[in-house]
Amino acid sequence: MNPRRWWFRRTLRFRITVVATGVAWLCLMALTSLAPSLIARVQISAVDSELTKAVAVGSGPSVRVLDTAGAPLDGLPAPDLTPAEVRTLKSGRPVLREDGESAMRWQGRVDTAPDGTPRLIAAGDTLVGYNGANDLGTKWLAVATALVALLVGIATWLSVRSSLRPVERMRVAAAQLPRGERLPVPESQDELQALAQALNGLLARRDEATERLRRFTGDAAHELRSPVTSVRAQAEVAVAHPDPDFSLEVLESVVEESERLSALVDALLILARADSGELPRAEPVDLVLQVHAAVDRMPSHDLLVQVAAPMSACMVSATRTEVELVVDNLVRNASRYATSLIRIAVLPAAREVRLVVDDDGHGIPPEHWARVFDRFYRVEEHRGRASGGFGLGLALVAHLVRQRRGSVRVSDSPQGGARFEIRWPAYR
Ligand code: ADP
Repeated sequence: MNPRRWWFRRTLRFRITVVATGVAWLCLMALTSLAPSLIARVQISAVDSELTKAVAVGSGPSVRVLDTAGAPLDGLPAPDLTPAEVRTLKSGRPVLREDGESAMRWQGRVDTAPDGTPRLIAAGDTLVGYNGANDLGTKWLAVATALVALLVGIATWLSVRSSLRPVERMRVAAAQLPRGERLPVPESQDELQALAQALNGLLARRDEATERLRRFTGDAAHELRSPVTSVRAQAEVAVAHPDPDFSLEVLESVVEESERLSALVDALLILARADSGELPRAEPVDLVLQVHAAVDRMPSHDLLVQVAAPMSACMVSATRTEVELVVDNLVRNASRYATSLIRIAVLPAAREVRLVVDDDGHGIPPEHWARVFDRFYRVEEHRGRASGGFGLGLALVAHLVRQRRGSVRVSDSPQGGARFEIRWPAYR
């Protein structure tokens, strides 16, 4: 099996323990292998400081007086030094002679005897148990290393197990989490607590999105049902009573209902597409041109429509379809509720363009302002239905404008009716 795959199939606890134990063991082994030379250095430097003093003074139990060839001049037996070592001592460098378990350290200096001949003052001392200590130390250190690595392994295993216990609890809870419930958040203020909180946030957003979708689907089905039922009932009656005049009447009504239905389906499609997060590329769209076009598209009636807009173009950042939909919806609503006057103003500023649509109708009571841009929201149920609205027009307007980082606002109009104010980012 691929070792990488094998490794990543092990539990986190196993992997952390192996790495921690391995690293601890390697570090201790490196120290163990360095230890003998460190111990030797300490031993030698301790002896060296004594020998340096003895050689400088020229007397002491360890001091020997030799001729320059290494032969004793002090009447004692010849020291155990080779000619090469004698040469080294004469040059002022120390000598280390290893001998089985122990070792001998020598230092020396050339001096002039009272008779004027050169002589070698040398001092030597035994490094007791030099090699033995090293061997023994190394062995004990190796055992200690293995023990400490084992301890590190056990401690890591236990601490990782207790640290990961909340993860296990979260995993078990997540596997059987009912709707609306949340994961247990560990009390420790660490990464796991942050993770649990982030996951709970995600779950809350998911529940909210599901709830919104459920409500939207329910509302859409509910709205679709009445025109479909009405078309069906009328068609059934027409089939049961095959009278040409009556059939024509039924057909006209069916056409009307179908138009309402297709308008509803169009709005639903646009909202569904908007919900999917697709955002077509923004382009410069002339709002002044679109306002005039929307007024021209209005069905003829005896309302007075006043447009206050600059002579030059006012470019907003959106798509033409979006601007058309927004302006059409606002103008259609105004014409639906106005008594005699509609005022439309296009007001360009540095970074945005404002579109204000006023009418002199009955207006919208302030308690509805917060919700009037919600999907399927109607201010007055009977009035909305009678005029053919589904409560989707303003929801569409708000969505299309907000997705371009614009804003929508409703208030009272100085004309006495409602005022709708849209701010679109200007195209730059
Ligand atoms: P609809 O398609 O039903 O008109 P909208 O989303 O366009 O839905 O409007 C939501 C509600 O806001 C409408 O039911 C209506 O009562 C109210 N409304 C919208 N525009 C105006 C207006 N200009 N004057 C008064 N009420 C309005």
